[in-house]
Amino acid sequence: MLNFSNKSYQLKFNIINMAKKLQMNLIGFAPVERWEKYGETDPEYYPQNIWPEVKSVIVLGTQIYLPMLETTPSVVYSELYNTANRILDEAAYKISNYLNVQKKQAFFFPRDCYGDISVLIEKPAAAFSQVLAGKYAGLGTIGYNHTLITKEFGPRVRLVSVLTNALLPPDPVLKKDLCIKCEMCRKCCPTSSFKTTENLIADMDKKKCAAYHAELKSAFCYPCGVCIKVCPIGEDRKVYGYDAKKYLGEREVLKRNKKDPEYAGWVHCREHGSKTVQKL
Ligand code: SF4
Ligand code: SF4
Repeated sequence: MLNFSNKSYQLKFNIINMAKKLQMNLIGFAPVERWEKYGETDPEYYPQNIWPEVKSVIVLGTQIYLPMLETTPSVVYSELYNTANRILDEAAYKISNYLNVQKKQAFFFPRDCYGDISVLIEKPAAAFSQVLAGKYAGLGTIGYNHTLITKEFGPRVRLVSVLTNALLPPDPVLKKDLCIKCEMCRKCCPTSSFKTTENLIADMDKKKCAAYHAELKSAFCYPCGVCIKVCPIGEDRKVYGYDAKKYLGEREVLKRNKKDPEYAGWVHCREHGSKTVQKL
């Protein structure tokens, strides 16, 4: 067990304050040893094996607003996704800069980090998993749908990581899984990409999911997001509510009647600013 100096605690405190000022909803700290301890990915994906000087990973999260996500596939959600990504990268850039001023090495691993969906269809893996980083920084646990499930926003959160050689006091990893394995994500996935029902984390056909994303991208309503939209977990549900029947019935009802009043707002957003895609 490492002992941390007062200076390390002060630095952590300053970073948290800065993240709050940058409108980040979540922040957590992970020591790089956790990648090895949990052994959930190949060693070439450990941050300390990509950049040997790195000692700590600071994970920042920002929320995805549910009413905008519910309109997916739409340009409304697409714009939200792009904005969330931009503010995450900006916050990570500024926090890295702050650490540099304190004479620490620091830089960030941008969220997403792929040139085009066609690359993901060939090789659906990221060079660095923000989801694992979020877990090791104590922000949440990995759900059936392969996303980070958080207490605050369920899976409706986007993540970015700052990597630094500063030794910072870590946050504890959550012990209890937040995913309740309700399988709403499996039932509502428009491509039936989730396969297993036995494991907590589903076998997933990532290429199928990526191929659908290519279709959405060419229709200007990327990404999909259905598996995070329908997840019941998250305190944001206390604000926005939860209607499983509406989610489960969406595809069938709209197939019968495109003008069904219950879905009118979502359909309205889908019919403007992007092309129509058949699946939901
Ligand atoms: S929808 Fe249910 S099964 Fe899927 S991630 Fe959320 S809690 Fe887990
Ligand atoms: S993003 Fe969409 S297509 Fe991909 S797994 Fe989730 S619900 Fe299915």
